[in-house]
Amino acid sequence: MKSIKIIIVSSIISILLVNCGEKKDIKYDIVISNARVIDPETGFDEVSNIGISGKEIKTITSEKISGKKEINANGLIAAPGFIDHHAHGQDPYSTKLGVLDGKTTQLDLEAGALPVSKFYDYKKGKGISNYGVSVGHAFARTVVLDGVDSEGIGLLNHSLEKTGVTGNKWASTQATDAQLDEIDKLVIQGINEGGIGIGIMVGYYKDARSDGLVRIAKIANEYNSFLTTHTRFLSLSQPSGTLGIQEMISLSTSYNVPLLVHHVPTNALTDTKIVLDMIDTANKNNGKITGEMFPYDRGSTFIATEILSEGWQERTGMDYSDLQWAETGETLTEETFNKYRKERPEGYFIMHHIKEKDMMLALIHPNIIIGSDGMVYTDDKGQLLSEDAEFGLGRGHPRGAGSYGAYLRLAIDEGSLSMAQILAKTSYLPTNLIEDIVPSIKKRGRLQEGAYADITLFNPNTVDGVAGYDIGTSSLPSKGFEYVIVNGQIVVEKGVLIKNTYPGEAIRGMVVNN
Ligand SMILES: [Zn+2]
Repeated sequence: MKSIKIIIVSSIISILLVNCGEKKDIKYDIVISNARVIDPETGFDEVSNIGISGKEIKTITSEKISGKKEINANGLIAAPGFIDHHAHGQDPYSTKLGVLDGKTTQLDLEAGALPVSKFYDYKKGKGISNYGVSVGHAFARTVVLDGVDSEGIGLLNHSLEKTGVTGNKWASTQATDAQLDEIDKLVIQGINEGGIGIGIMVGYYKDARSDGLVRIAKIANEYNSFLTTHTRFLSLSQPSGTLGIQEMISLSTSYNVPLLVHHVPTNALTDTKIVLDMIDTANKNNGKITGEMFPYDRGSTFIATEILSEGWQERTGMDYSDLQWAETGETLTEETFNKYRKERPEGYFIMHHIKEKDMMLALIHPNIIIGSDGMVYTDDKGQLLSEDAEFGLGRGHPRGAGSYGAYLRLAIDEGSLSMAQILAKTSYLPTNLIEDIVPSIKKRGRLQEGAYADITLFNPNTVDGVAGYDIGTSSLPSKGFEYVIVNGQIVVEKGVLIKNTYPGEAIRGMVVNN
């Protein structure tokens, strides 16, 4: 017995010695030294060194290690790269600003795309960060009701403008039974092409048939998918924004499918506290509901939106002076409002409709995730910008450039959440929602040995969103993000984007060939 014990003890010692020797001898591709390393899943929060080789984190250790490239991260926090489920700006210019805001994965799960495969073809080789989409239910409606094919990039190729010619039927009419059959078929095809969930922006087609949505929830259940939603009604009066959220929560719980409710305060308005309670209570009763928010008290969308149909002032509590035309920064009047709705239906406006206190309630809720809702930045004539176009030229809501910097500043200064909780809302919690559909996502959203090296290094004292509402400021990059690493490649160094580096990978559900 004694000799066996000695053998076991001596082998453990030799294994330990070998391991120590290994770490010291290895030259990692990248070493990050002296960072405050935070892993939101385990709560790990210690000053450590990170060794990266290839696309993986190989070690997180207090030992000194060496690398071909060494980053001294003294005073910086190393966080899992941010995962944004709500990035409409899939064009190169908007993507670039997202990376400078600490994001390593930018998905559009709200609007989504159709056909899904065409989106992935469009992005291939162009991803500074990881990319992906849901199945765009709205774009299935444009195909079936207006005959407009958005070709996988509906927000980049003026597909909504094209439906103006046919009377925006996708937004304003009810589908027939036969049309619902066609819509369902396109949605199923999108799931089979790897769409991450089904994006239901029913807030933009508020008269859609309820039974049509029930059918989509059943499809989500049958095909192991889930629902993401911009809910019906942005309204303080009935039918209220809260009622619209209740509708989707009931579909989720009835058909046992996970649900992502985008921008809760945008639709819940002064009922935000009530809706947060509804989500918490549903989850205590085995619900699978994730709420999301962006850290601004103003929102943005296209001017032809249903939200602004007859009676909008009474419903939303806003007036013309709360609306700003994004391209010029001008405050709208009755005259310009009517002109732009008619002549520039897909131009963006910014609206002041959320109370700061409601925004903050969602911001400090430990289970409400952050999503930018960053729109496509355009120039002063509504045209797309090239990747090289200067910062500040892009017009639009600042959230596309500043959401994560602004969120960190607000959350750190507010002080009620731990740093691990603050970072769970930008990385770990967003992975939970999609890990059944994209199993590899379990290797993201975490700072652990064996995880993919998607890492954001920021200075907690200086980090902030710089972008603002004034012309020339809305597409300024955030500050305090010193390094961003995607799949083991540095894309931001000392706060500056490294040009022509595209390590982003497709994040995609299982593709079914049939
Ligand atoms: Zn939305």
